[in-house]
Amino acid sequence: MVDKSRSVQVARCSLMIGLTVFACCIVGIVSRLPGTLAVFWPANAVLLGILLRSPRSATLLTWSSAAAGYLAADLVTGSELATSLWLNAANIVGVATGFYAFRWVRDEDRRLASIQSVGYLVSTTLVASASAALVGGIANQFLFDGGWSDGWLEWFASEFVNYMTMVPLVLTFPLLGSLRGTDDAVAMLRQSSVPTALLAVSIALEWVVGGPGAIAFAMPALVTAALVTNVFVTALLTAVSTAWTLTLAGSGHLGFAGGSATPVGSSVQIGLSLLAVAPIAVACVTIERRRAWAALTEAVTHDDLTGALRRDEFLRRAGEAMISRHLAGEPVSVLMMDLDHFKRVNDNLGHRAGDMALASFADLVRRHLDDDYLFARLGGEEFVVLMAGVGLDEATELAETVRISQAQHSRSIWSEFGPTVSIGVASCSTGCAGLAELTDCADEALYQAKKLDRNRTVSLVIGADS
Ligand code: GH3
Ligand code: MG
Ligand code: MG
Repeated sequence: MVDKSRSVQVARCSLMIGLTVFACCIVGIVSRLPGTLAVFWPANAVLLGILLRSPRSATLLTWSSAAAGYLAADLVTGSELATSLWLNAANIVGVATGFYAFRWVRDEDRRLASIQSVGYLVSTTLVASASAALVGGIANQFLFDGGWSDGWLEWFASEFVNYMTMVPLVLTFPLLGSLRGTDDAVAMLRQSSVPTALLAVSIALEWVVGGPGAIAFAMPALVTAALVTNVFVTALLTAVSTAWTLTLAGSGHLGFAGGSATPVGSSVQIGLSLLAVAPIAVACVTIERRRAWAALTEAVTHDDLTGALRRDEFLRRAGEAMISRHLAGEPVSVLMMDLDHFKRVNDNLGHRAGDMALASFADLVRRHLDDDYLFARLGGEEFVVLMAGVGLDEATELAETVRISQAQHSRSIWSEFGPTVSIGVASCSTGCAGLAELTDCADEALYQAKKLDRNRTVSLVIGADS
């Protein structure tokens, strides 16, 4: 049953890849001038990108389906069989070499999620382009009566520029599932607006000013994209810029005869491919730096065992919350929580069980809290919650829910050693002096709860209404 559904999945995936190759070839054939290679040939890069993104899809059936896609596109557009066989042999050899040389690379390195990825990307595309050019050079002798080395250079340059512009796009294309709703898409569009505007200006300047230097005009826009957006947007803007510059070079607008089938044209293609490395590398470094920054911030502000806020971060955020709620005239409540006879858990069940009991208590508390409440571990087995905009009754109700759930949950796991919790609740309405007064009051309430034989909630109110 499992085998059958896997076979259906493999067949469906192969068919989709074959159809994609076919569609990309048609696009390429439309851009092909008589007697030359296509200016824009996305099929190889798209196929290589899909396979690198999902190496499991590279089955024999997929390769056959892709080959059929290449041949069918040529034959339906009137190419001769011999021409089609030669050109597509070069295409498939390039993609297969690139894929098998780099499929062993770690998943995140294949997805352009680290700076090493850029090295792998450039190496993959160089290997794929050079090997396609080996066959392409021979095809040049047979099909167009040209020299092998001329054919090699022409193939290499055009494959390289197509791979370098399209593969990063396919590798980083955001699938619907990876975007968390429309907010992510809107944020991505907002971040892209400045680099897109800069690119539009550089594209216009390339056209107006012209000359060989114009091939680097877009660099500031692309580096800006790399610094403020993500790898996908950077790759997209780089692809647009490269396509535009190639078009200007091909039409002689940059002051040299840069058509794709000329040595100058090949030089421009190779130069633009290498220029594209810079923004993509900067985008990868930016992503790594953001990831490291987020991990560092998490480590500095949160307790690693329980995931609750650390004491100093709690004091900082709670101070801010108190000021804003005080100004708004809203009540603020604090729960001070201490696990009962916690030493017994360690003594009887071991320190590791003690750690698990702490983490499990923190999870239980979090399940009952709204997102904007502050929850921190003050130290040891002592925790605090600050709830802005919540009065004494609501805070006491929440404390009781936590206390009862903890008693049931912990006893069900650690039987008689399962720690219960004592909770002191303090609340102030409009006139309390500050955080210290509120937490002192909650401490006092907690002390009373401990004195009342633990597993209790005691509530006190301070401020104008007390
Ligand atoms: P009470 O009901 O009066 O609060 O008694 P208690 O045993 O909970 O309080 P006491 O302060 O005597 O002991 C607290 C214990 O918590 C002592 C310490 O070993 C343990 N503890 C503190 N931090 C950790 C931790 O991170 N992991 C573990 N496993 N135990 C911890
Ligand atoms: Mg305790
Ligand atoms: Mg304690």
